Amino acid sequence: MQRIQSGDQVEVLTGKDQGKRGRVMRVIKADGKVVVDSINVVKRHQRPMPPMQPGGIIEMPAPLATSNVMLVCPHCDQAARIGYRILDDGSKGRVCKHCQEIIGQD
Ligand SMILES: [Zn+2]
Repeated sequence: MQRIQSGDQVEVLTGKDQGKRGRVMRVIKADGKVVVDSINVVKRHQRPMPPMQPGGIIEMPAPLATSNVMLVCPHCDQAARIGYRILDDGSKGRVCKHCQEIIGQD
């Protein structure tokens, strides 16, 4: 069970996007990093690759370390510390330490 999962809402703790929130698009487990929609956006100069890519400057979110983001609880809308609890079906669930609600992975 990972602390942060794809589809989660997270809040950025450090860097130029500190305090912003976004949805996790991708988790890069091996690097301990996440890609968050509209966060840590970098400009890349893209060489034209006909016929699909027109080239020019494209903007894309760069990965940032999981330790620099905090999961936002969908129940109490706070950047929350996460605990774990064994659910009725035997699986491990994430629990918000603020409101004690289970945070799902919808
Ligand atoms: Zn909560």
